[in-house]
Amino acid sequence: MTSAGLRIDIRGIVQGVGFRPWVYRVATELGVGGRVRNHPQGVTVEAFGRQAALDALVERLRHDAPSPARVRELVAVPITGEGAAEFVIEGSAAGGDRALSIPPDLATCEACASEIADPDDRRYRYPFTNCTSCGPRFTISTGVPYDRGATTMAPFVMCPACRREYEDVADRRFHAQPNACPVCGPRLALWTPEGTVLSVPDPLHAAAARLRLGEIVAVKGLGGFHLACDATRPAVISILRARKRRDEKPFAVMVRDLEAAHALAFLSPDEVDLLTAPERPIVLVRRRPDTALAAEVAPDTDLLGLFLPYTPLHHLLLAEVGRPLVMTSANLSEEPICADEVEATTQLRGLADALLVHDRAIATRCDDSVARVIAGRPVLLRRSRGWVPRPIALARPVAQPVLGVGGMLKNTFCLATGDCAYLGPHIGDLENLASLDFFEEALAFVESILKVRPAVIAHDLHPGYLSTTWAEVRAAERRVAIQHHHAHVVSAMAEHRLTGPVIGVAYDGTGWGTDRTAWGGEILHAHLDRYERLATFRPIALPGGDAAIRAPWRIALALVDDAFDGDVPIARLPLLAAVPERELTNVQSMLRTGLNTPRARGVGRYFDAIAALALGRGQSGHEGQLALAWNTIALPDEHRAYPWALDHGGPVTEIDLRPMVRAIVVDLLAGVAAPVIAARFHETIVAVTAAVVNDALRELGPLPVVLTGGCFQNPRLAEGLLVALGGADVRLHGEVPPGDGGLALGQAIVADAIVRRGG
Ligand code: ZN
Ligand code: ZN
Ligand code: FE
Repeated sequence: MTSAGLRIDIRGIVQGVGFRPWVYRVATELGVGGRVRNHPQGVTVEAFGRQAALDALVERLRHDAPSPARVRELVAVPITGEGAAEFVIEGSAAGGDRALSIPPDLATCEACASEIADPDDRRYRYPFTNCTSCGPRFTISTGVPYDRGATTMAPFVMCPACRREYEDVADRRFHAQPNACPVCGPRLALWTPEGTVLSVPDPLHAAAARLRLGEIVAVKGLGGFHLACDATRPAVISILRARKRRDEKPFAVMVRDLEAAHALAFLSPDEVDLLTAPERPIVLVRRRPDTALAAEVAPDTDLLGLFLPYTPLHHLLLAEVGRPLVMTSANLSEEPICADEVEATTQLRGLADALLVHDRAIATRCDDSVARVIAGRPVLLRRSRGWVPRPIALARPVAQPVLGVGGMLKNTFCLATGDCAYLGPHIGDLENLASLDFFEEALAFVESILKVRPAVIAHDLHPGYLSTTWAEVRAAERRVAIQHHHAHVVSAMAEHRLTGPVIGVAYDGTGWGTDRTAWGGEILHAHLDRYERLATFRPIALPGGDAAIRAPWRIALALVDDAFDGDVPIARLPLLAAVPERELTNVQSMLRTGLNTPRARGVGRYFDAIAALALGRGQSGHEGQLALAWNTIALPDEHRAYPWALDHGGPVTEIDLRPMVRAIVVDLLAGVAAPVIAARFHETIVAVTAAVVNDALRELGPLPVVLTGGCFQNPRLAEGLLVALGGADVRLHGEVPPGDGGLALGQAIVADAIVRRGG
């Protein structure tokens, strides 16, 4: 009998999702012998059998993989060798690259969800139900390879029924490492905030009752605790805000199913896909007016962070409460998420009225991911649970392992090794010891599973960032300081596997420039290892530095002052007319003397200032608050832009928006509505950017254009530029956040390129 052989390399979401058992079943069905095993980038199948059977196998691997597995790339090459009669599943290859045997956490699958809802099933109402298609992975892993013994499920001994499922290759729970049931698995408990166990027959039922009565319950989830409360009760949400010391920042809302999601928000098919994806991110969507949702959930915007249950516990809780729940990370503002019930009794004291806990430990904290559909495609704004530790495939392998330590805000780190880059979980703002501890813990874990300790460390150019100081004291052979916007541009290049050159548009709030001023409106001609600055924005004065960022009326005054050469119609601009005389003169004298008045080029600062001016709001409660409000009110069908100018006089072209500021003041004095002004403002940024980029494309040839930086979380800007740059090859971010959450990837790749060229 002649037997042909094939080696089939498969990339995609194929690990920890029951893919190998499925391959086993298909191969056995087709009478194909051979083996299947994990490798760092996916799965390899070696198959032997009749040609027709092999063809059928390839066909089915390509098209029939069961959700949540996803085959992105499949390469089959003929091989010769022992034509094995049996087909076997090999363990993760011994030695070498086992890192990827730890998959990301996966939302509860439909089969498990229906079991917990079925009174006749042995897992009826069991909150820790999972299978090979779903359940905890990264957050319970304590080491490699990904086996039960290297998870926080190790202390739980499977009962005979669970063991049978685990060992039966035909079962949905074959080698499901966290497999458990009410007999042998983790259990819930309800605690007082001080940690006293409440004796209730059914902790879940009792917690649901408390939520319905308007209490705040801390719920131990997959990657940490949430603070949960009834999203339809204004009073309890106000209490939650006061306790969390979070004034206006929107809270995420979890609803029980898609139907409930449709009731609260306008959802496009793309948004539905994102909401129901196995990664289950929080999705920013447009909320419907007049729903049961309390306005206090998101007081300042009609955007809503919505997500669906992703653990059986969530499914059961949401079903029992019967109302949407605010589910926000359990922490004080900007501290890392709390993940341990004993810590919770101190960290969450005063925040929650009760704790719904369980005895399956969280090994590594992992916050919820946040995504938004922009230009019809999902863009991650925060990449964490569900994605970590899935690698980003690089265009070319790094010469040696590199660590990028990220920036300050929305910090993540990135470890690049071989042809993969691993972004770590969302750390939060790296500006206190608690977040630095989390950073170090998570990094140590990722280093241990990858078995690397990079000798090259890439950090931001900013000397004051905690990440920079950390990088400076950590043992390393080589430290490379990377300019912030270059890192942004290269993060987008890496995601799109571009090796340059490109035109990079990097717009954000702030980033340290090579001239020791704050940049943030940068158009670069970028290679991986270097860049040339093509254009930037005319700098804005920030009277009082950081104080101006919290009180953007100061920046507004600076802008108008600049545009009118000091002759500001203060009395006629409500924002400025409302400022106490003394403060006004103080800021005016700062503007004249330049004392304590750094200058910044961030496009984000223009957003803050113009939004403050037009909306008459002098204060900003949190980073990006006014910009978000400004973006959401912009009138969709107003497409006129204000005038602008380009100053080619200096070494770098300067985008001069003084003509725009003058026109906005004229509009304001004429009583033009804020949504119209907001639309024209966006159109202006789009138009001037497109003009500069088109000039560059004419001069440099048809290069790809990448749009990056926090400002490209704004769909109007991103979509506007896609239209305005019609003929060009324009790339937005997708899986890597455009904001500082993606910075570490760019840092690592720039550092590799610099080291490689011997710089
Ligand atoms: Zn399942
Ligand atoms: Zn069991
Ligand atoms: Fe940035």
